[in-house]
Amino acid sequence: QVKVGCRHNIVFFDPAMEMRGNARWQMEQALHHALRNDEFVLHYQPQVAAGDGAIVGVEALLRWQQPGHGLVAPSAFIDLLEETGLIVAAGEWVLRTACRQFMAWKGVGVRLQRMAVNLSALQFSDSDLVPMVRRILAETGMDAHCLELEITEGIAMDNEDAVFDKLRQLRAMGICLAIDDFGTGYSNLGYLHRLPVNRIKIDQSFVRAIDARTPDSPIVRAIVTLARSLAFDVLAEGVETPLQAQFLDGCGCGEHQGYLYGKPLPAAEMMPLLLQGACGIAGVYSPDQPVC
Ligand code: C2E
Ligand code: MG
Ligand code: MG
Ligand code: MG
Repeated sequence: QVKVGCRHNIVFFDPAMEMRGNARWQMEQALHHALRNDEFVLHYQPQVAAGDGAIVGVEALLRWQQPGHGLVAPSAFIDLLEETGLIVAAGEWVLRTACRQFMAWKGVGVRLQRMAVNLSALQFSDSDLVPMVRRILAETGMDAHCLELEITEGIAMDNEDAVFDKLRQLRAMGICLAIDDFGTGYSNLGYLHRLPVNRIKIDQSFVRAIDARTPDSPIVRAIVTLARSLAFDVLAEGVETPLQAQFLDGCGCGEHQGYLYGKPLPAAEMMPLLLQGACGIAGVYSPDQPVC
């Protein structure tokens, strides 16, 4: 270890730190490369009506097919995409790919109400966001009403007029807006009712907490009540068990997304489910049947 710096401000130069810096730089280069060389792919996860298992939508989720590394999950690279600003270009790719996929499915007879796409905060501060979305809708022929953009609580609660304006413009185009991971941020409840938002997605952490030992969740019930009184639709994320599904449905949250219904899948594997219109789990949870 080498000491550098002045007397009062000693900085230790640690070779391991250089390694980390180096690794980060390499990863950045790899992400640039990934964008140029089409290494990103989208997987699609069904959003389901709990009652009959009908697929009401899909959420597009980014994956990185990194040569030699297999399929890399977004938790491993989204932060770096944001820090480097690459998320703006990657986000445009995601939206275009998702809209094209929606139209390709439509072309072969899939009737799907909704394609949900995640937006990052950085895309929101990009002045080209609204024109970019408009361009992609025009280019792909995607019906704006079938597109849902998922924003974080952080974006939604941003007090900037510019952000609010963009949300309103997107809504005016007919696009649906959903607040993702709801309940994990710091929503200003007084501001929530003014937001031009259609749906809130209950964060999976609240859903995960529902189990045989704690089958009730006052928080989930409160969120559903809040959503209803503000006339928002509500969907629960991370639904993994019939018990969770039953509780949520019983609370009035009937749209679910989670491993119980299906993991995110490549488009080709999603297709048979979509043609079928349901996840093939009818009976996994049925309101009339006791759930064990
Ligand atoms: P998210 O938008 O909240 O997406 C839901 C995440 O939960 C996905 O993780 C999904 O695979 C996972 N998930 C779904 N059902 C279950 C379940 O039953 N149990 C568990 N344990 N997990 C479940 P994924 O695909 O790894 O994505 C993680 C996050 O990365 C996303 O969270 C989203 O914030 C971000 N992300 C993914 N794709 C994009 C994208 O295209 N653009 C942006 N800006 N962010 C993205
Ligand atoms: Mg999401
Ligand atoms: Mg979420
Ligand atoms: Mg998330």
